[in-house]
Amino acid sequence: MEIKFSRLSGEISQSEIRNMSIECDAVGGINLSQGICDLPLPEPVSRGAKAAMDSGENHYTRYDGLPELRNAIAKKMRSYNNIQTDPEKNITVSAGATGAFYSACLALLNPGDEVILFEPYYGYHESTLKAAGVVPIFATLRTPDWSLDPREIERIITPRTRGIMICTPANPCGKIFSERELAQLAEIAIHNDLIVFTDEIYEYFVYDGRKHLSPGALESIADRTVTISGYSKTFSITGWRIGYAISNEKWAQMIGYINDLIYVCGPAPLQIGVATGIEELPDTYYSGLCQQYYEKRNKICAALNDAGITPYAPQGAYYVLADVSRLPGANSKERAMFMLKQIGVAAVPGSAFYSGDAGEKLVRFCFAKSEAALDEACSRLRKL
Ligand code: PLP
Repeated sequence: MEIKFSRLSGEISQSEIRNMSIECDAVGGINLSQGICDLPLPEPVSRGAKAAMDSGENHYTRYDGLPELRNAIAKKMRSYNNIQTDPEKNITVSAGATGAFYSACLALLNPGDEVILFEPYYGYHESTLKAAGVVPIFATLRTPDWSLDPREIERIITPRTRGIMICTPANPCGKIFSERELAQLAEIAIHNDLIVFTDEIYEYFVYDGRKHLSPGALESIADRTVTISGYSKTFSITGWRIGYAISNEKWAQMIGYINDLIYVCGPAPLQIGVATGIEELPDTYYSGLCQQYYEKRNKICAALNDAGITPYAPQGAYYVLADVSRLPGANSKERAMFMLKQIGVAAVPGSAFYSGDAGEKLVRFCFAKSEAALDEACSRLRKL
């Protein structure tokens, strides 16, 4: 038989996160490689979804989502993100932030186009771009504070560069882009006529009194920005697949049509559940969530420091990159495997987040875990 796989399948590899999860299961370890929030979902969210199902909200929705959810998102974008939207024109509800980003890529980019990706990057950003035939070009954030160098960005831009991808707060390094950095990136985007894609799925996970800033709130780039986010993390509903893209009217319609083509729509009753959550949950829900994760961050960073695996304490999101150069091994995979074998704690090798070898001394721990699992992992880390 001469039937071959597609070109794309040659570029899609088994993710290191999945690999480490399998290795972790094999030794019955504690899995800090994968980000699964095991908090219960908020009551209004489940009540809203159940009521919607019982009242017959079980059909295809409009290509860009139900009005209840678009209205709720518009309100939240105004109050939390400082972005004005018309729920009839600027919002596309999709299958999670993942679906929203893929739809936006297919609506706005062509095969062969380039998009700037900061490394360490989130693997899905790279894979999604590749799936659309887009070439990621990399700008490296520098330790210890994951700072960016605008001159490096200008250097890697070519006539084929069409966009820049920002993830704030970032997975895996937890960077929150500052006002000054966003202003620098806005200038670069305007000067080079780039689309600004921004993934803000961790927008409520911000620590040490920091504030989340949405690039789309900057007037100078509002029209060229596609803001992507969703409720997987905020409402602990990763399996529901509800996210959205916000963009100017002209783009939003096409992003919506592509969303319709690939996913048809987000799950109808779950859209109502999320809308109910946004409408009913008080500010203290979000501040409480943030406080819980802040305490988890401090707990794991203290244990890592005690273990001599220096953490780069994240400003936001729920992952921590740590320097494992003191562990034996020729690369990050060997060091992560050493740790798994010694103490039964799984983390993701840093190589998963870089195009080159800059991640070989790093591993990523996810601290979106139950208190019991996190406590046990911390006590094992201290024995390392
Ligand atoms: N964006 C980032 C940066 C993530 O880390 C994740 C999940 O880990 C997602 C998006 C996935 O979001 P969703 O579940 O809404 O597709």
